[in-house]
Amino acid sequence: MTASRSARGRRAAAQAGPLARVAVEVGADEQLVYKISCSACTARGGKPWSAYRPGADNGYLAAMDRWTFHLVEKHPGEDAPCLAFLAEAQQRLHERREGGTTTDE
Ligand SMILES: [Zn+2]
Repeated sequence: MTASRSARGRRAAAQAGPLARVAVEVGADEQLVYKISCSACTARGGKPWSAYRPGADNGYLAAMDRWTFHLVEKHPGEDAPCLAFLAEAQQRLHERREGGTTTDE
């Protein structure tokens, strides 16, 4: 049995740092979906910033990578445990682009 949904959510929230709002949801096909939104960027008008990625493990990595890039880009003064993995996140982004499977905006 893998980690429970709430345990996964707590782990992701701890990694993402105080600025993130993390939710782990169950998608239509029973697969976990990681959602990370930014508490600082929701105050402005329009849609809040968020990353929404399906997959128990892939979703975690993909959403956390997106969040890490958001922190670096928009909140350079913020500290969060996930920033320790920035180099790995950039490497994964590069690999995804190489594979041509990215669906990012
Ligand atoms: Zn933000």
